[in-house]
Amino acid sequence: MRTKIAWCVNKEHRENGLWQRCRSDDCEYKVRHEWDLIRDVCKISVKEGWREADNWTMIISDPNRNAETDHPSGNYFFYIQKMHLGEETRYSISWNGNDAGEPEYSHAQWNLGEDYTYSKHPTKDIHTIKGHESEIIINFECSLVKYPEPEALDIGAYFEDCQNNWDMKFKMTELIKLHDARIRQLMEEKIQSIEEDYSDPEVTHHRDNIIQHAVKAQEAWKAYATARANEVFSTYCGGSGAGVGYGWEYVELQRKRISELKTQYK
Ligand SMILES: [Zn+2]
Repeated sequence: MRTKIAWCVNKEHRENGLWQRCRSDDCEYKVRHEWDLIRDVCKISVKEGWREADNWTMIISDPNRNAETDHPSGNYFFYIQKMHLGEETRYSISWNGNDAGEPEYSHAQWNLGEDYTYSKHPTKDIHTIKGHESEIIINFECSLVKYPEPEALDIGAYFEDCQNNWDMKFKMTELIKLHDARIRQLMEEKIQSIEEDYSDPEVTHHRDNIIQHAVKAQEAWKAYATARANEVFSTYCGGSGAGVGYGWEYVELQRKRISELKTQYK
């Protein structure tokens, strides 16, 4: 998932200082950040069969976002909609940003427009909604939908198309994010199973303690894995393979962690 968001910053197009949904020749669209607002394996909620449906709503949230009710949210989320009205099909983008582009709200209260275009990659499960310098790329080629168990993936095969070191780095980042998503999923399952196992009122005091330690262990693992991968990175002394070296080490540690999480509480 990659997102880039822009809106018209022309002051004359505002009413009472507030942003209006206008599209005129002198609109000045400005991308909020130079980097993507989200570039990660995200939580996506959409009804099944959406690819063929006339109407759908897709909710995309930053994986670092905690509860739906957090305020301020602290992380971005988007509502993408397809609406079929008579002959016309519209695509809209709404998000929880404020006028400064910060993820302030707990609702996707800002509708940026209903005139975005949609396109699908000719062969791959990649969907793009864009227009007026905003762009949202929903890429199921790098997802737990396509790779429910990324830990079983043949890394060599995943890197098959790579032409150069830059491609390798890009793919390595994808791989790390995929494994991260898998770890998050297994952690959620683990916490859920602790909650179920200790739901009896007589043992609930154990439950919170166990969950707290499970979360701490995960945080400590992450700190260790990052430090260890940085240690490997440093031995390249700035050489071009450093990024990929970091990635190999990190993915290997992620895989060990996944196998640990899979064997616990089962
Ligand atoms: Zn404008």
